[in-house]
This record gives sequence, structure tokens and C-alpha cells, in this order.
Amino acid sequence: MRGLHLDCGILTLRDDLPEPESRTDWTRVQVAVAGICATDRALARGYLDFRGVPGHEFVGTALDGPLQGRRVVGEINAGCGACGACATGDSRHCAQRTVLGIAGLQGALAERLALPTANLLVVPDAVDDEAATFTEPLAAALHVADDVDLAAHSRALVAGDGKLGLLCAMALQLHGCEVTLAGRHPERAALLRRPPAFARGWLEAVPAERGPADHFDLAVEATGDPTVLARLLPLVRPRGTIVLKTTAEQPAEIDLGPFVVRELRLVGSRCGRFRPALDALAGGLVDARGLVSARYPLGDGVAAFQHAAEPGVLEVLVRCTA
Ligand SMILES: [Zn+2]
Ligand SMILES: [Zn+2]
Repeated sequence: MRGLHLDCGILTLRDDLPEPESRTDWTRVQVAVAGICATDRALARGYLDFRGVPGHEFVGTALDGPLQGRRVVGEINAGCGACGACATGDSRHCAQRTVLGIAGLQGALAERLALPTANLLVVPDAVDDEAATFTEPLAAALHVADDVDLAAHSRALVAGDGKLGLLCAMALQLHGCEVTLAGRHPERAALLRRPPAFARGWLEAVPAERGPADHFDLAVEATGDPTVLARLLPLVRPRGTIVLKTTAEQPAEIDLGPFVVRELRLVGSRCGRFRPALDALAGGLVDARGLVSARYPLGDGVAAFQHAAEPGVLEVLVRCTA
């Protein structure tokens, strides 16, 4: 099987990859399109010592099982099926889980993959292949609403104008928040149907401009830069909430005092459920297709990764099969 393969930070295109096994209660999927995200690029730099096929944002066609022949997307955490978390139908915190293209499970930047059948959702006709590849990151963005009462956090700051930041801004707007986007690319505000206020320079080590103190009810960290969190604290009102949406390759050094004195709440947030994301895409509530910067065939997958790492690039898609 053809696919991209990572080994100790070295990315290669291979034609000799093993086919995903067919297993009981799992479905094999022919991958149509897969995206390259910041996590994939971090893995390619050696993060988590990942070995295998990267990629976890995909759409494809089920090759067997009850969804055979249907166009599907898939939640990326594959649980053990036996623990308490799995018994509730939520493998995201199964201690034995593998994660598609991230931990112990061959990913989507190949011709085929396999996931538990229960992870798969049929893609409505209204959502084309390119839009469907955004289901996973949009689900992660919408997951903020699972842990924060957004009605009580209507003034929201999103830190980071990369793909995840833009999707977080779209997700918060869907929930009625008044969003300010902070980053380095003011033109990206126009990628949202309702362009948010844009703040440039607030998050730099030496800020070009200072943001308003105590102004926001909520700040969402989506830069992946571990030093940004400390700069968000003074912008959030006392008893406000900060959501960490990205992991960083380096640990953060931060004074915890403001969390106590100003009674700030810090919420970690990772993967979301796919259903609300797919519904938002199908209903036309979110249009992420403007975020696609480039498209490559799988045979040029190594070049696709290099392109994805260039400054100013949002999303690079790889067509894995015709
Ligand atoms: Zn991702
Ligand atoms: Zn489990």
C-alpha cells in the first residue's frame, strides 16, 4: 500500500506499507482526501517519537462492514472497548486508546486506514470531500462549548489565526459569542462569514499594542506557543476562563499567582464529537473551504508537508486516492 511514513522525524513516501488489518467491529476505509495539520508537522519534527503513517483529518469510503460503500469521516480515538470510558461510548479518555496517525494507529495519509466502526459517521451529500476533512478540527473547536457555558462568556478572545484558531472563532460565533481574533494575519478575519474584530501584536513577546485589561470573559489559546498563555491572563476578567486548545512541544514556564488572585479558570480541551461538526458543515453554518491553501496528490506527499510548513499556509490537503 502507498502512503507517507514517519520514522524518527524522517518522512518518506512508501509503496510497501502493510494494509490495515480487517478486525471484528472495525472498518477499513479507502481514504479520499486527508489534511496535514500542525500536529502532523510536529510529529514530523519528532514530537511524541511517532513511527508510522501520520494523518488524522480525512474523508473516505468504507470498504467493509455495515457502512460499506458509504462516504465516511471518523473520530480518531480507538478505545479498548472494555473500560469505564469505553462503556459510556466515549473512547477519548480510554487509558489503552490508540489514536489515528498520532499514537499506535496507522493514520490517514495513505491509501487505506482502519478504525472501529463505531467511530465512523456517514458524510451528508451537502458536505463535499474537502469540507469533510475539516470535521475533525471543527469538532475540536466546537468542543469548547462542552466545557464552558458560552452564554456566560460572550466576550471571547481567540489567540492564534491558524486553522484551529479560525475554526475556534467560527465555533464561538455559532454559539453567539462576540469574537476578537488575535494573530499576525489581519486578512484572515475575512475568511469568516462574519469577520471578527482583529487584534494584531497583542500576543508578541514584546507587544506592539496592549490589549484591554480585564476585558474578555473567555480566551482560547490556539497558537501552540507555550509563552502565549501568560500574556492572555491580564486580558481576561476576574473569574473568567482560559481554554487551552493546543499542545506545545516545549513546557511553559508561568507564574500561577494570577490564577489564584483573579480566580481564573483554566480548561484543557482536546478532541470533540463529530456529530455537531458534521451538522454545522451540512447546514452551511460553517464554511471552512476558504482555509485550503494547496492540494497535492499522495505521490507528492513529502512536498505537501514541506508546503504546509511554509509561513502563511493554512491547510494543505492530500488526495490519497482518485
Ligand atoms: Zn489535527
Ligand atoms: Zn477503553
